[in-house]
Amino acid sequence: MKAFCDVHLHNYLSSCSPDRTATAEKTILKAAELGLKRICFTNHIWDERVSGANGMYRKHTLAFCMQIKTQIPADTHGVHVLVGAETEYCGRNKTLGMSAEGARELDFLLIPHSHVHMANFVMDDPAPLAAARANLKEKLLAIPGITEAQANAWVSPLRLPALEPFLTEPIGDLAGYLARFLVDSFESLLEHPELHKILKLIPVAIAHPFQPVGYTKYTEEMLARIEDPIFQRLFGKAADLGVGIEINPCCNAPQMLRMLKIAKDRGCLFTLGSDAHSPDTMEDIFKTEPVTKILGIEEKHLMPFLIP
Ligand SMILES: [Zn+2]
Ligand SMILES: [Zn+2]
Repeated sequence: MKAFCDVHLHNYLSSCSPDRTATAEKTILKAAELGLKRICFTNHIWDERVSGANGMYRKHTLAFCMQIKTQIPADTHGVHVLVGAETEYCGRNKTLGMSAEGARELDFLLIPHSHVHMANFVMDDPAPLAAARANLKEKLLAIPGITEAQANAWVSPLRLPALEPFLTEPIGDLAGYLARFLVDSFESLLEHPELHKILKLIPVAIAHPFQPVGYTKYTEEMLARIEDPIFQRLFGKAADLGVGIEINPCCNAPQMLRMLKIAKDRGCLFTLGSDAHSPDTMEDIFKTEPVTKILGIEEKHLMPFLIP
């Protein structure tokens, strides 16, 4: 299927965007150049009504990110522009970073359950990584003048392979750990009472499902651990609730295709998203075309709000 829309787009309002000149206007212009009919801005947002934001999300409030509504030019070159959000789901303590009240300001909500690179915020460290972090922190504190706060700030965002030299025990079965976490977090998200309220208001989809951000080299091995009946159960629930499943440029691997095929067979509807953080990478949306083609995904398999 020709990719005619992209409902997962960041711009400069997401602090992880490498392109500080990525304005709404530039994104819209690029969408028009690419022939896209509908786009949705989905900057990272933690609704300030919900407690528990980390340092990054304290800056990405709903009020801050909704300024984009005043930045969309009157002439959108024929592109239909929606304003949504990519919020956060912290599976480790079942916290959803968006309230139903906040969702009223959005056209669409993307929820990731797989931002596992945010260690000890989204997912608890597996024991060997926690030990490596503690080991490195101890070494930093042994340097005169380094404070506890400085050591914590240094160590907290690190992940493999940066932590590898500080492992004190083998990393063990990380693929299995990730598989268990992502199955649990997907399921607990679908059971979250606030999600059920939001679903009565706006369309919701899962961003990059079962793609462990920061650990992508483990993705295929991890997916192979999750058997068909588990995916059938999870995607059956998503379909019953009307929660969409995102297809993005990273879906082109065998285990990922097996998973998406099950989602389709269980009746899930899909969204298309490049997850571009700059207009320069928006062409990536076309990398979804071989995936939709091989899976036989057509317009009727997309969430209705994607259709212009
Ligand atoms: Zn994401
Ligand atoms: Zn994103």
